[in-house]
Amino acid sequence: MNDQSKQFLFDLLQSASPSAFEEPAARIWRKEAESFADEVTVDSNGNSIARLHGDGPKVLIEGHIDEIGLLISYIDDDGYVWFNPIGGWDDRILTGQRVRILSANGPVPGVIGRRPAHLLSAEDRGKASKLKELWIDIGATSGEQARERVSIGDPMVIEQPIVDLGNNRIAGRGIDNRMGAWIALETLRALSSNRPAADVYALAAVQEEITFLGGRTGAFALDPDVAVVLDVTHATDHPDADKRGQGDVRVGGGPVLTRGATVNPRVLQRFADLARANEIPFAIEAAGRSTGTDADGIAPARGGIPTGIVSIANRYMHSPNEVISLDDLDAAVRLIALFVADLGGSADFTRR
Ligand SMILES: [Zn+2]
Repeated sequence: MNDQSKQFLFDLLQSASPSAFEEPAARIWRKEAESFADEVTVDSNGNSIARLHGDGPKVLIEGHIDEIGLLISYIDDDGYVWFNPIGGWDDRILTGQRVRILSANGPVPGVIGRRPAHLLSAEDRGKASKLKELWIDIGATSGEQARERVSIGDPMVIEQPIVDLGNNRIAGRGIDNRMGAWIALETLRALSSNRPAADVYALAAVQEEITFLGGRTGAFALDPDVAVVLDVTHATDHPDADKRGQGDVRVGGGPVLTRGATVNPRVLQRFADLARANEIPFAIEAAGRSTGTDADGIAPARGGIPTGIVSIANRYMHSPNEVISLDDLDAAVRLIALFVADLGGSADFTRR
């Protein structure tokens, strides 16, 4: 990964893009796209699209740019701020975190509070706190003062800078799935200097974590001949993993290809063949039901779109410290660029 691409990744990860409030990260994505794409657009849902013109089949490479977050539901008369989740949180990890509230007047820092453990009943002490028992303290001395600084519906993210763990591994917040939007655009960048026949669209889709809005509407609007969906998947190389249920998925083990639900088997086969031929390590993940990715919205769009899923192994998903390997990101870019180039002038994935 060169310095420019790494800086782009870190800029995306340091911005905030809770679902339905993706604009800050999407602006960074489009600005980067403008340096090499033929066309960069944004629509009324917030979907950002970068295109490389071609006469061949229409290819969609999609990664959702939203992340899970929180939003203000109520401000009480003592100035405490109450909140609802945006997306699927593990309530256990919210206690004691710092937040960045995205108010109309800019970022407002806060801390998530709860009753100290010393003052809990013996029975409650061993239990994780539930989200509805937590509040946010922004240092306000009254409800009136708090309401001047933040408003109902203001979104927020956990404040957590990215850390480099060495071995090309990083930890940070919302790697799910800004790194997918990054791979989509970096693939387009790679193809821009070695033009394929295909007409290629990178899509940074909104709201995957809550409604699948961007994947669904993006696939309908673009009507591609084939789609590649990027997301994170659960790594099973940690001490409490269940390989029997989840397979052998390793951080640094290369891209993970989904087999089963929503995925077109011929798209999968082509990815696996290209990975083997080019000595790119990869893993296969089995999906016996819907995948929980944007593929669930893209594959059934219109009359059905042949779709593949390329995932990146991620430890501690939906925590403020998700861990991935940058090597896996580079390998995914390389593999998808090979897939697009290999299509040539046709993309027939009919299952006979
Ligand atoms: Zn997620």
